[in-house]
Amino acid sequence: MIISMQKPLEEILESLAGETNVYIVGCGECATVTQTGGEEQVAEMKARLEEAGKKVVATDVAHAACHELDMKRIFRQNKDAATAADAFLVLSCGAGAQSVREGTSKHVVPGTNSLFVGNVKRQMVFEEKCSLCGECLLDEYGTICPVTRCAKGILNGPCGGTNNGKCEVDSEKDCAWVLIYNQLKSEEKLDKFMTIHGPKRWNAVQRPGRIDGRAADEEKGAA
Ligand code: SF4
Ligand code: SF4
Repeated sequence: MIISMQKPLEEILESLAGETNVYIVGCGECATVTQTGGEEQVAEMKARLEEAGKKVVATDVAHAACHELDMKRIFRQNKDAATAADAFLVLSCGAGAQSVREGTSKHVVPGTNSLFVGNVKRQMVFEEKCSLCGECLLDEYGTICPVTRCAKGILNGPCGGTNNGKCEVDSEKDCAWVLIYNQLKSEEKLDKFMTIHGPKRWNAVQRPGRIDGRAADEEKGAA
């Protein structure tokens, strides 16, 4: 899921300067789990904005704020509030804010900073384990991603700075290459550890990414 952090209120208020009527949008998926834009945080933000002199014309926690058609549907259903709003404050990831952008021509303010795609370790503990490189090499590395989990992203490690199983860049974190070694050893696949990997295809994903699954469906239909 997308891990985000709420921006400081001062920054949000600065973005909303000169605008009184605010429509707050939250997200029922990632931003709810990260407690940055769920029902509770949207209600809290409403109270904080009102305290600062704003008028909150509506609040909505979308099922998933990144769903553009759903966002447009919500604004159609709340047309009066959407019309009355001077600005929309979005408590979700940046994708959600841009989804709101598709549903209104008004000022859209992101209320969070999106940080990374994270695994949920336990409640409110998130770890980045994949950085969406577009060419997954996990099978070569005991299903531990060196691109993301090694601070230097090296594909033929370790770097030499490993200290008691910890990373030289951050001694609080495990060295990814020690984890890779231990995992491959337990699988009796240390030959993979000795393999020299060539350069990675860093252009496997072209930004901005786009997939149109309808073309594949049409091909299936034609077959
Ligand atoms: S190699 Fe790492 S960054 Fe790339 S897709 Fe696999 S887990 Fe993600
Ligand atoms: S100590 Fe390990 S995780 Fe840290 S940079 Fe070196 S190889 Fe990567």
